[in-house]
Amino acid sequence: MRKIRASYLFTNLGDPIPNGMLWVNDDGTIERVLSPEDTDYHSEDAEFLEGWLVPGFVNTHCHLELSHLKGKIQEHTGLNGFVSELMKIRGADDSLRFKAQQAADEEMHQSGIVAVADICNGNSTFEVKKNSPIHYHSLIERFGFKTETAELIFREGLTLLEELNQQPGNICLHAPYSASIALQKLVKQHLNEASSGFYSIHHTESEAEIALFRDGSGEMANRMRGWGLFENEFPYTAMRPVDYLLENFPNNKNILLIHNTFSNAEDLEKLQYLRDRLYFGLCPRANLYIENQLPKIELLRNSNHYITIGTDSLASNYNLGMLEEIFTIQQHFPEIPITELFKWSSWNGAKLMGLDKTMGHFSLGSKPGIVQILHVDNTNKKITSKSFSRLI
Ligand SMILES: [Zn+2]
Repeated sequence: MRKIRASYLFTNLGDPIPNGMLWVNDDGTIERVLSPEDTDYHSEDAEFLEGWLVPGFVNTHCHLELSHLKGKIQEHTGLNGFVSELMKIRGADDSLRFKAQQAADEEMHQSGIVAVADICNGNSTFEVKKNSPIHYHSLIERFGFKTETAELIFREGLTLLEELNQQPGNICLHAPYSASIALQKLVKQHLNEASSGFYSIHHTESEAEIALFRDGSGEMANRMRGWGLFENEFPYTAMRPVDYLLENFPNNKNILLIHNTFSNAEDLEKLQYLRDRLYFGLCPRANLYIENQLPKIELLRNSNHYITIGTDSLASNYNLGMLEEIFTIQQHFPEIPITELFKWSSWNGAKLMGLDKTMGHFSLGSKPGIVQILHVDNTNKKITSKSFSRLI
């Protein structure tokens, strides 16, 4: 049994506990959560750790398979520019790719990430995941805007899913503009029939996506037209991207919308009826990297929807640290209390992934992983540019 205490303990179940103490079993299970008023609290028994202790982070959006692209794509190219660059350099030597994924996995684990919802277009990450201490949920990403190819694309996804063997995963969609109605229906049925898993899709990541569904104009429409995905007029207009998806959300699984950079009040209002199983995933640093813009986080927060945090990939981020994502939100939205940001970074993600019995909070019997955050501002309860996190 290990007894540890720190200047603040963030349990995610109430106010942070000054000088809070944890008793932790050898397997990482929390035995006691104590504050100095408790009779069993004896400070001399416990190891004192500088800074704060928070439950292990849950990264709800990552593309481990793109780890070898670190530093290869320029910032602020916009989503269209980003995708063009990505297509040019996506191929890489297998061993290089593997090493980059291993390094990224290790970096995530050491910085305190205990679970990851990870997007997969192939099987290249399955080996790294099999041997990792992180709990991965692999989301097999499918895209295709032509109705006639939906069945084939979906079946290829099922084959990949089988290759995962016993590892957790399910099929997901890439984005509204890359999913035919036929493909959406197949994914809906797949999730409705699955015993676990969740829906995941990139959502309102660029202004071009909004323009496409508004009136079939803009860069994305031009690109799709160029690819022969539709003739003359885009067939789904006078709507928001979410209108195109609504009918084919699964009936009984959680739903994750990723990025939401250009989501508005109307979108959030429309989705209120799904509130108990809908999650808005934020990847602020990737948004700044690609589009140099952040989602309307205040609006999202006031809507009372669940918010989670993800790192996106090393193709669009400097590293895969959750603390840096939290710091970015804190810097742009200083009015959001740090207690809330810690909930977004672990508990909400654990709920989305069905892991919240054991992860996302410090309580009797939970096994959330313990993260120490050093170099914090205790007076103002802020993390600083010098803060860093590590799994202990
Ligand atoms: Zn992504």
